[in-house]
Amino acid sequence: MVIIKEEINNQLKRICEVGFPDEVCGVLIGKMEDNNFVISDFKICENTNHERSIDRYELNPKDFMSAEKYAKDHGLDIVGIYHSHPSHPAIASETDKLYAWPGFIYLIYSIYENRYKDLIGWIINEELDKFETTKISIS
Ligand SMILES: [Zn+2]
Repeated sequence: MVIIKEEINNQLKRICEVGFPDEVCGVLIGKMEDNNFVISDFKICENTNHERSIDRYELNPKDFMSAEKYAKDHGLDIVGIYHSHPSHPAIASETDKLYAWPGFIYLIYSIYENRYKDLIGWIINEELDKFETTKISIS
């Protein structure tokens, strides 16, 4: 399960709305607690896929590394990645699955016409080679 602070979730929704019609992306920062992803912070990363920024994202590795340092400095870890799906449902694509790292939570925010529509969390199930959805608790 994902446990995310309402304030953080609201900020992420807003960032994904403002980024429309491009995909925006970044890292989710927090801790693993009893197999739950507890998300308490995040860092925006540049989407370096400029050619297909409407339906692809690639995290700027420099942003990723500085986010990693930021997390460590705060006694936290990068626990996953968020990105937006402009004008598409929050369903993980084949590309999303292909590039997903085991043990990471992937939050996809669906945005239509600059407005947040839906949020779905995805985790790789290595045994079944499947991308599975997970429950999200916003508190
Ligand atoms: Zn995607």
